[in-house]
Amino acid sequence: MEYRHFIGNAWKAGDNRESLDVIDPSTGEPFAAIARGNAADIATAVNAARNAMGDALDGPWAKLSPVERANLLFAYAAAVLNNADELAQLEARDTGKALKTARTDAAVLARYLQYYAGCVDKLHGETLPYTTGFTVLTVREPIGVTGHIIPWNYPMQIYGRSVGASLAAGNACVVKPAEDASLSILRLAEIAADIGFPAGAINVVTGLGSEAGAALSANEGVGHISFTGSTATGALVGRTAAERHCPSVLELGGKSPQLVFDDADLDEALPVIQNAIVQNAGQTCSAGSRLLVQRGVYETVIERLAQRFEALRAGPSAMDLDLGPLVNAKQHARVRGIVEQAEAEGIRVAARGKIVVEASRNGFFQEAVLFRDVPPQSRLAQEEVFGPVLAMMPFDDEAEAVKLANGTNYGLVAGVWTRDGSRGLRLARKLQAGQVFINNYGAGGGVELPFGGVKASGHGREKGFEALYGFTSLKTIAIRHG
Ligand code: NAD
Repeated sequence: MEYRHFIGNAWKAGDNRESLDVIDPSTGEPFAAIARGNAADIATAVNAARNAMGDALDGPWAKLSPVERANLLFAYAAAVLNNADELAQLEARDTGKALKTARTDAAVLARYLQYYAGCVDKLHGETLPYTTGFTVLTVREPIGVTGHIIPWNYPMQIYGRSVGASLAAGNACVVKPAEDASLSILRLAEIAADIGFPAGAINVVTGLGSEAGAALSANEGVGHISFTGSTATGALVGRTAAERHCPSVLELGGKSPQLVFDDADLDEALPVIQNAIVQNAGQTCSAGSRLLVQRGVYETVIERLAQRFEALRAGPSAMDLDLGPLVNAKQHARVRGIVEQAEAEGIRVAARGKIVVEASRNGFFQEAVLFRDVPPQSRLAQEEVFGPVLAMMPFDDEAEAVKLANGTNYGLVAGVWTRDGSRGLRLARKLQAGQVFINNYGAGGGVELPFGGVKASGHGREKGFEALYGFTSLKTIAIRHG
């Protein structure tokens, strides 16, 4: 199967007619091809999006009333649910994720579309008190064309939170999915066309980040860039956008800590802690990848968590086990390299999961690994691994826990497990993170909850109502009437 770009509600051959193989991570074999987009394809897509907006917000998409826009988004959510199984199969094959994870992702995407559909007619400006004789009001206007660079770990969910919010705010979108995960996004654009989105409201250009992605960040017609991915690429994209005064939301990596105190309810905590690093084979920006445990329960937690890790099985996505393969050969080599380096440095493995015998030797499988007594300054404790690898370390008191938790460049999510409510709140205020969970941990979950990072985890917020503000331009109108 050869996929083309999807621009202006039609499949379009790429400018250079070149393609990229789509590899099944469970077998390492190609099974389809996508178009290798370039700057000309991006320009065509931006043009289609501009036509949907029109020069004076009179294009077929921009002139829809808020209610009509909301109804289309509600219909889109329903269409996603109707096609959820197909979408999940497509994304599981493309990214290697276990089928159950892909099914959840399709359901969460539908939920994002419903949520933002419900927001369309509630997004409004204000009237402001000002000098006598004036009435001052603010209006929230669409930016115009927004660009969305999407990674391969949760393509459908990230499409939902970023494209869903931007459409709700009235913009037209150009999407550049990851080269390793374009198929569900292409299908989503086609579904939107089928249910009546005007041509140009949603456009998808596939291809490499360094080509199509870079061209999207640099295109003068794009008024906002939303990027999710690595910290290094995020800096590149943010710089390119800033050079032409284009705002960006950067949702980057993490090395998120979970803090377990002696008084924690371990029966509640341990399944959640395990899931937060194993979900999607650890390829989650908000994965809870560091586990900080108070010394009084440290050995107990190791013993109980080790039993759980040893039972974890990795295998082909179609087998729907605890973990699918990693997304590609590069990620596989990187994760294995970090694990091997940690072992060579003498960091102790407390437990390891298994790769099932049915797994192909050419697939990109990595078993879950639990490391103990990890030195806080080691690579394993500082770098985002993006694999099912958990780094445990002990602490004595609250002050040490906070110091360790805040002691990386990242600041995306943190979890605190304690029965002491005051301590939970006290720590929530001290932890450097965009989200703090007390006695739970949502690895990215909750469409209603604003999400994003501090420090090298990025800036700006996606999800929740907050995200809508980033996709609008606020205009102040001051009327002097005497
Ligand atoms: P990446 O950041 O390079 O890719 C993410 C997206 O950016 C893809 O769509 C890619 O095509 C695009 N891109 C790449 N280079 C670009 C450029 N110069 N200009 C514009 N767009 C560009 O991530 P990767 O190389 O696929 O993965 C490397 C590491 O990134 C992983 O090991 C992981 O640590 C991290 N990562 C984080 C997330 C997250 O959700 N925070 C997602 C994916 C990867």
